[in-house]
Formats: sequence, C-alpha cells, structure tokens
Amino acid sequence: MNTMLQVARMRAPRDLTARALNKVGITLHNPHTSSFICEECGRIWSAGLKRGGRFFRGWWRCPNGCNT
Ligand SMILES: [Zn+2]
Repeated sequence: MNTMLQVARMRAPRDLTARALNKVGITLHNPHTSSFICEECGRIWSAGLKRGGRFFRGWWRCPNGCNT
C-alpha cells in the first residue's frame, strides 16, 4: 500500500507497520476497514480512505485526543 501522508506536522506514522503505529500509540485493528485502536483509551475508529487510497488528514489521531 502506498499511502504517502500529507500530514506534515506532529509525528504521523510513515507507514502502517506496527512499529510506526506504536510510536503514536495506536494499533491496527482491522486492515480491511483501516480501523485503529488507541492504546491509551482503547477507542476504535476507522481512518477511512479517500479516493486514491489516501487516509484522511490526522487519521492516526485518537478521537479522544490521547496522542495529539
Ligand atoms: Zn485514545
């Protein structure tokens, strides 16, 4: 998957490896739906894919703001 992210600030993961995701405190929950789990509060959310296979801006951020 080629998902070069446009998020310039913060520490957006460069890819979806467990190591990269762990740096921002999240874990991939379901690769098929692109949902993630926040390791801080356990919240699960879907990043959703835009056309072209790109994630939404800030997709890796917990909706509860744990890792912002
Ligand atoms: Zn959280």
